[in-house]
Amino acid sequence: MARTKERGWPPVPEPLPLPVVDNHTHLESVVGWSTEGWADSSDLAAQLDRAAAVGVTRLVQVGCDLDAVAWTDRVVRADARLLGAVAIHPNEAVLHAGVHEVAPDGLDPDPQERHAVPLDEALARVGEVARANDRVRAIGETGLDHFRAGPRGREVQREAFRAHVALAKELGLALQIHDRDAHDEVVDVLLRDGAPERTVFHCFSGGVELARVAAEHGWYCSFAGPVTFKANDDLRAALRELPPALVLVETDAPYLTVTPYRGRPNAPYLLPGTVRAVAEVTGRSLEEVCAGVARTSEQVYGAW
Ligand SMILES: [Zn+2]
Repeated sequence: MARTKERGWPPVPEPLPLPVVDNHTHLESVVGWSTEGWADSSDLAAQLDRAAAVGVTRLVQVGCDLDAVAWTDRVVRADARLLGAVAIHPNEAVLHAGVHEVAPDGLDPDPQERHAVPLDEALARVGEVARANDRVRAIGETGLDHFRAGPRGREVQREAFRAHVALAKELGLALQIHDRDAHDEVVDVLLRDGAPERTVFHCFSGGVELARVAAEHGWYCSFAGPVTFKANDDLRAALRELPPALVLVETDAPYLTVTPYRGRPNAPYLLPGTVRAVAEVTGRSLEEVCAGVARTSEQVYGAW
């Protein structure tokens, strides 16, 4: 079967019956998609309008490298539809720590100018932004990425994750977790150090077992495009296992575009595909899922 060569934006889906929240998106990359530069504000407003037109009226913008942290700090003050999350992503933490090892994914690290800032200082900057901006309501994404990190990198990631957990608790903010091939180790850190009161597994990638652990501790699970991928029956089983009150949705744009648009750029206006999948998998009505997501998002991040 020939793979489609179509790389442009997927078509706009049918609007949702009630407004929802995209719990995790990287708008700086979405609006930079075609230009490979930082977005200008008209691109950003156009993306937010496009999302609002299909019912995605509010979003959590995630800045998880030093450049994106600064961008997030600025845009969440400028548009009332946005809240922010800030952190040093686990794969960024490794580069700030000066670890350059080839990980299981086989990719060579590719340090940028910002990685000259030592990890301690980078973490301190995240804390400063989170403290000074009341539109920043979460620390994330932070966690462990065993796919991208070798043994030294994993150590760095664990310490950086622990520092973010401590910061979220100190500031009373939600925590957004990145967990790639590291379910047991992520849970271990949360249980040893004590999870923040509102803890979210972003782009939940576990099975029924992790869903049960999350349910037991009241941790939220945010579902992204992969819940629509044909091969991911485990993910759908996990979703059915969770109490509806712990379920959130996100695009993680510009990555992980919903079926049938995989390989094409993702953006918040494509969230309805995931919302519809959640309704289908759980046997709940679309209205019920939308209302639940909106309510739960406010519980996690506060009103906006
Ligand atoms: Zn993300």
